[in-house]
Amino acid sequence: MLERFGGWHEPVPAVIRATEEAKILRNDIYDREPLKRWGDGRVTLLGDAAHPMTTPNLGQGACQVIEDAAELAECLRGGAGVVRALRLYEDRRRRRTAEIARRSRLLGRVSQLESPLLCAVRNAAVRVMPLRLQMRQLEAVLANER
Ligand SMILES: Cc1cc2nc3c(=O)[nH]c(=O)nc-3n(C[C@H](O)[C@H](O)[C@H](O)COP(=O)(O)OP(=O)(O)OC[C@H]3O[C@@H](n4cnc5c(N)ncnc54)[C@H](O)[C@@H]3O)c2cc1C
Repeated sequence: MLERFGGWHEPVPAVIRATEEAKILRNDIYDREPLKRWGDGRVTLLGDAAHPMTTPNLGQGACQVIEDAAELAECLRGGAGVVRALRLYEDRRRRRTAEIARRSRLLGRVSQLESPLLCAVRNAAVRVMPLRLQMRQLEAVLANER
């Protein structure tokens, strides 16, 4: 951990030094393209199983699970029967979650660039990007219009 994060700003190295080695967990995280088909019959998926956003780039994985759950509940309340409600839920959620998952992956790629030149270009672009433009990017994620 110190090899990788020892050069970070304080208190990151101090926290690592103060933590017992046995208490440091390593859990790999995996990612993949969102699924095109989430369910069949009385089975469906929600959350990371349907649209993984496990690499924490946009901070939207758990948020999208909450939206999935709310939409699923609404579709089931509609009284059209379970199978139709599940397909309706999938139709309503597939596009938005796939778009957010794609944005999240793109952000991950950009934030994990390794070339010093590309990092410098990225950092300069972020520094000069007007706040209004940054907020506009976020609005598309925060506004749930289907
Ligand atoms: C470091 C990190 C930071 C993050 N930060 C954010 C953030 O700021 N904001 C945000 O919105 N999202 C964030 N996320 C993403 C978010 O954590 C996930 O998208 C979210 O937890 C997905 O929820 P889920 O219920 O779909 O899956 P999980 O939370 O993975 O839940 C699945 C559950 O199923 C259990 N399970 C697996 N297999 C079986 C089995 N065979 N039998 C029984 N149980 C089983 C697992 O133990 C787990 O408890 C972050 C993720 C990481 C890794």
